[in-house]
Amino acid sequence: MSLIYFDNAASTPIDSRVLESMMPYFCIDYGNPSSIHPMGIRAHNAIENARESLATLLGCQSDEIVFTSGGTEADNLAIVGVANAYSNRGHHIITSEIEHHAVLETCHHLEKLGWRITYLAVDNKGQVSPQALERAITSDTVLVTIMTANNVVGTLQPISEIGSVCHKHGVIFHTDAVQMIGHLPLDVKKTQLDLLSLSGHKFSGPKGVGALYVSKEISLYPMIFGGGQEEGFRSGTENVPGIVGLGKAAEIARAEMIDDSKRIKDLATKLINGIISKIPHTTLNGHEVHRLPTNINISFEGVEGEYLCKELAKRGLCVSTGSACSSNTHEAPYVLLSMGVERELANCSIRMSLGKANSESELESSLEILREVVANIRSYSFV
Ligand SMILES: *Cc1c(COP(=O)(O)O)cnc(C)c1O
Repeated sequence: MSLIYFDNAASTPIDSRVLESMMPYFCIDYGNPSSIHPMGIRAHNAIENARESLATLLGCQSDEIVFTSGGTEADNLAIVGVANAYSNRGHHIITSEIEHHAVLETCHHLEKLGWRITYLAVDNKGQVSPQALERAITSDTVLVTIMTANNVVGTLQPISEIGSVCHKHGVIFHTDAVQMIGHLPLDVKKTQLDLLSLSGHKFSGPKGVGALYVSKEISLYPMIFGGGQEEGFRSGTENVPGIVGLGKAAEIARAEMIDDSKRIKDLATKLINGIISKIPHTTLNGHEVHRLPTNINISFEGVEGEYLCKELAKRGLCVSTGSACSSNTHEAPYVLLSMGVERELANCSIRMSLGKANSESELESSLEILREVVANIRSYSFV
């Protein structure tokens, strides 16, 4: 059975040029980047080139990039690192209800250690209000962490406005930009960001590698201690092939993301329109305009989301309900609930996330599969 992969928000296939760039660093230039002999120097230079590529993509300086083991570690390092470095300023953090678990669970952890966390609600399109954020800031507020783009519904946040509010009140601003980096342009200086998390495998790079942008103005307490790699922010021998791959993915994104995203957005728009017009009792979740080009989140009345995913999988269509972390737990889709979607309907939603490898012909087949599977489920369960 041939598979149609519409789960690019969970992970993307690695670009063949990325894979090629990584290969020499497994068996040929395998030295430890801290070694002072030629093998070490080659590995070190490869890391510094990758750092340069990422810095160019983000509009920052290369010494403002810290490599991590992925988006999760970057989020943890940003939040815990700021909390530990600035605990003399206060003990209050502001975030939103719709963050990724990597942010939410880190905040829960700090809550247990005595920090006060404000979880801002979002509107029915999934956006945080900069005014509500401003009202939540107190003299005790140290950090605001609001994601750039949501992984479940694809809504983009007004992060420039949020950045201005934070700046005005002298509060540090971190954003989890894992879903957006490599797909839409973002300049960390123009957006007044202090910290930004990204992950390789969400934009055609390898898994297990990511980065945190840390503005030079910000001090950060490390989470991992040891040999002092990454300017002491993140000890441990660097994942050289992974970092090289991440750098290559950043270079490709910078050159190609505008065209790629335009093409993917056209495909996604066609698929959305096809579903809404051909399958009755369906609604698009999230923002109609301010959304990721890759994301589609739809509710099918009367069709349970987890069940629909499983039935679609039997026909070769790979989709998800939106949170890989909760796919085996029957946890309510908290992002949709925060947006005010009724629990009943929230449980009837799936996410289809498109990517560079998807084609027009897959659109037609997937629409056909969706139509049949939804009709079939509804024929015995829809009341
Ligand atoms: C995937 C994802 C992460 C986690 O990144 P990993 O590299 O898989 O650890 C964090 N935040 C968001 C929004 C994500 O989509």
